[in-house]
Amino acid sequence: MIISEDKPIAEILESIENHSSIFIVGCNTCAAKLHVGGEQEILSMKSVLENSGKKVVGWALPTAACSIRSWDHLAEKDRSINKADALLVMACGSGASVISKLGTIDVFPSNNTVSLGGSYKGEVLPDQCKMCGNCTLFYFGGICPYSQCPKKLLNGPCGGCSDDGACETDNDKECVWELIYKKLDEKNSLYLLERIFEPKVNK
Ligand code: SF4
Ligand code: SF4
Repeated sequence: MIISEDKPIAEILESIENHSSIFIVGCNTCAAKLHVGGEQEILSMKSVLENSGKKVVGWALPTAACSIRSWDHLAEKDRSINKADALLVMACGSGASVISKLGTIDVFPSNNTVSLGGSYKGEVLPDQCKMCGNCTLFYFGGICPYSQCPKKLLNGPCGGCSDDGACETDNDKECVWELIYKKLDEKNSLYLLERIFEPKVNK
């Protein structure tokens, strides 16, 4: 799941200030699940835009904004897209990028993409992977320190966590290395911590 969040409405309105006929495109996968690009959010955005003097000519909710075959395929959902002078895409940057390739119309993102995450038991889990290109997750009990330790330490912990195991940089979060240690201990795999890792290139 790509984690994205709403841009401030003032920023969205400023970005489309030279456009009057807007078509909204959501995403019925990640963005809908996160409540930043599903039907309710599209309808709410439509009202906001209309109250700000814009004409919303229509909207579409493709299964995944990042996977659309062609402009015609998107337009099949609502032909009024052809009357728009701008698309507002309520999806992650990947979705907005793919939709930007479909035609010549201006495409504006309404979301900011913040991380590659997931969901488990109904809970959204941000920062599960930073796409480093060389996955070493197994050695850390399935918890990626490169993604979840603020210092990206692969040979942690840093020594700054509090006595109750909270992260030095965010007391509301448990030190990722505490979690890794507990997980490897459960699996009788603490020997994996003997391996020393070179730093990954910063991403
Ligand atoms: S090591 Fe972490 S950042 Fe790299 S691919 Fe695996 S989960 Fe993603
Ligand atoms: S306390 Fe733990 S999670 Fe926080 S920066 Fe240090 S090693 Fe990383």
